[in-house]
Amino acid sequence: MHEKLSSIYDNVLRRNPGETEFHQAVREVLESIGPVLGKHPEYAESKIIERICEPERQIIFRVPWTDDRGEVQINRGFRVEFNSALGPYKGGLRFHPSVYLGIVKFLGFEQIFKNGLTGLPIGGGKGGSDFDPKGRSDREVMRFCQSFMTELYRHIGEYTDVPAGDIGVGGREIGYLFGQYKRITNRYESGVITGKGLAYGGAQVRTEATGYGCAFFVDEMLKARGTSFDGRRVAVSGSGNVAVYTIEKIEQLGGRVVACSDSSGYVLDEKGIDLDLLKQIKQVERGRLDVYAERRGDNATFVAGRSVWEVPCEVAMPSATQNEITGRDAAVMVGNGCIAVGEGANMPTTPEGIKVFLEAGVAFGPGKAANAGGVATSALEMQQNASRDSWTFEFSEHRLEEIMRDIHDRCLQTADEYGMPGDYVAGANIDGFRRVADAMLALGLI
Ligand code: NDP
Repeated sequence: MHEKLSSIYDNVLRRNPGETEFHQAVREVLESIGPVLGKHPEYAESKIIERICEPERQIIFRVPWTDDRGEVQINRGFRVEFNSALGPYKGGLRFHPSVYLGIVKFLGFEQIFKNGLTGLPIGGGKGGSDFDPKGRSDREVMRFCQSFMTELYRHIGEYTDVPAGDIGVGGREIGYLFGQYKRITNRYESGVITGKGLAYGGAQVRTEATGYGCAFFVDEMLKARGTSFDGRRVAVSGSGNVAVYTIEKIEQLGGRVVACSDSSGYVLDEKGIDLDLLKQIKQVERGRLDVYAERRGDNATFVAGRSVWEVPCEVAMPSATQNEITGRDAAVMVGNGCIAVGEGANMPTTPEGIKVFLEAGVAFGPGKAANAGGVATSALEMQQNASRDSWTFEFSEHRLEEIMRDIHDRCLQTADEYGMPGDYVAGANIDGFRRVADAMLALGLI
């Protein structure tokens, strides 16, 4: 790492003890942007990097609620408003027992550059809670969401901070959160939250956008290497929102997805994942993956407690959670013939894993670029809400495809410009950083 950046990184470690995921996310960006400082000394003079690493505002709050047995439960809520140089803070809410400040800050930090990369007017933020919706009744989830929003509402707004979903926060949760915001404020402010249902201000393609966008991005990477998804064997991790729509689009693009997972294990289905069955089990019944193999019969097997990355594949689409592909996994995957990786999840590959992929010449699409279709389509939802309009599915999908192609091309061009051809990690970090840094410079020391 560049000497100046190394001392900034040491300071980040000292000022944010114990937040290992945040440290990892900062390190990855700082490792890429050294060459930019050479070309732009004004960034260092204005301490842009030190400022980017410090959130503009961090909110932590108590979320009390009662479960179905009448017992009081206490969770912790977070919203980190990281950077608003490009627009209102924008980023999802994660409900998962592993959530603490370090997770929210890593996600918020990545979001700044991802949102910059989209070219749309959105700043970076992220939030969530250590609440676990799994196994909770709809009424419990509703009471939790209402309590969470009873504090959060005073910090957000369509011109201030616009949350959306993430792990554990899907259409059901967004509905309850928006309902409580509307009730408390007495305002039908559709643009305050994205990922809404189509019945109340949601946008076509938002549900599908992260997965579809990631498949489009990988399709572009494959095209840039003179190949395509056609007939390729693909493995996907997770079976939530991002995973399901990644599978859907890859199947449309001619790939064959043979495996997907959840936190209990993975299914291997050599004939190709039956998407209708997967959606029924995961989205309607909120069930576990072993049920998929049971109902699919001889076609599929469920492998409990193991990583999906042991399944040989040509294209890998990690779509579950952070640090799920280790250096060892990556080495096995390369040995099995993996030629492309598209990160649907945020930071799913460890630094060691990324190194293995890049050294082996794998086309590696980092999450900041490859999964930016979700937030980009959220910005399109805000645009439709502001103009009280709603676009067709076809038009919205076309916009998403254009945005993903543009992000892909800019990553490649930027990597070329800095003498690192084909390095999408460097391209994404540098391009995202420059956009935010230029806006911060223009706005003065605030
Ligand atoms: P969902 O909650 O819909 O699905 C998450 C999936 O990942 C589930 O199958 C879940 O399994 C699995 N999973 C979660 N945590 C773990 C874990 N610790 N170990 C193993 N499996 C795990 O979330 P999303 O699909 O929305 O999000 C997936 C990833 O994509 C996250 O990294 C998120 O930040 C990222 N992302 C999401 C966007 C969106 O628009 N939703 C936008 C950009 C990025 P189980 O049900 O068993 O827990």
